[in-house]
Amino acid sequence: MKDMEEKNVLLTGLGKQLVLNSLTDASVQKATEDTPDFAILPWVNVVKIGGQSIMDRGRSAVYPLVKEIVDNLARHKMILGTGAGTRARHIYSLAIDLGLPTGVLTVLGTAVAWQNAQMLHYLLAQYGIPFVEPEGFSTLPHYLLERGAVVCQGMPPYKLWEPNPVAGRIPPQRTDTGCFLIAEVFGARKMIYVKDEDGLYAADPKKDPSSEYIPRISVEELLRRDLEDLIVERAVLEFLARARNIREIQFVNGLKPGQLTAALDGEPVGTIIYRNGDAE
Ligand code: ADP
Ligand code: MG
Repeated sequence: MKDMEEKNVLLTGLGKQLVLNSLTDASVQKATEDTPDFAILPWVNVVKIGGQSIMDRGRSAVYPLVKEIVDNLARHKMILGTGAGTRARHIYSLAIDLGLPTGVLTVLGTAVAWQNAQMLHYLLAQYGIPFVEPEGFSTLPHYLLERGAVVCQGMPPYKLWEPNPVAGRIPPQRTDTGCFLIAEVFGARKMIYVKDEDGLYAADPKKDPSSEYIPRISVEELLRRDLEDLIVERAVLEFLARARNIREIQFVNGLKPGQLTAALDGEPVGTIIYRNGDAE
């Protein structure tokens, strides 16, 4: 006990609370909010390149986008994360048919996002842009300062540890979520999703071309609207609502040259979903 008292002399108020109480104590948890979150890479832009929406379209979609990325290398730092897409949907259907659990589906989906990251990486390799696995993320700052971009696969590295979704077996946190979590932990300047639509609509524009276009909406309002389908994984909206660094996410059409550049330049192109913090 005397030992503990001596230690306490050296501890801050928060230190004492953490040492002496349970970490699940609600007042202890609240006390950890007092210091602001530090932005580790405040100049980096996380750019998710869609799997089905971009990579699966092949050369006609990918080549112009690669050119646009290269044109931006000197002006904007980018972590380029890839989606999985159609091949993941195929393997999910096989694995589900075989009765395999969500964690295994996540391992399989990660392998597909990895394939897309490999292809993007080889297209950008001549500019010195590396492919980096999560274990190698400590080298990101160096590559970003030296070469302006890195490529990674977009899935969060949960693999077998992916929790079950509320309904069904499809991994609920996929590449939209993985890229968002990278942006949040590094305190990125921007989180930009490059897909094949101009942004968010009230319904999937591929099924209902007349649906209302939504250029700007708060995440709280979007969650309240409870739309039937979304341009982004639902997990991203939940995480944005309680993000500490990321204040907004942007969706641009990668099939329209210039949209990614405009978003990187800070223009309100596409759709912006922002956090106003009024979630109840
Ligand atoms: P990614 O290739 O990044 O994985 P997805 O294909 O998963 O992208 O998501 C983009 C697609 O989401 C769009 O092509 C669009 O057809 C569909 N979508 C569904 N609901 C909406 C909506 N409310 N607004 C815009 N797009 C939507
Ligand atoms: Mg998707």
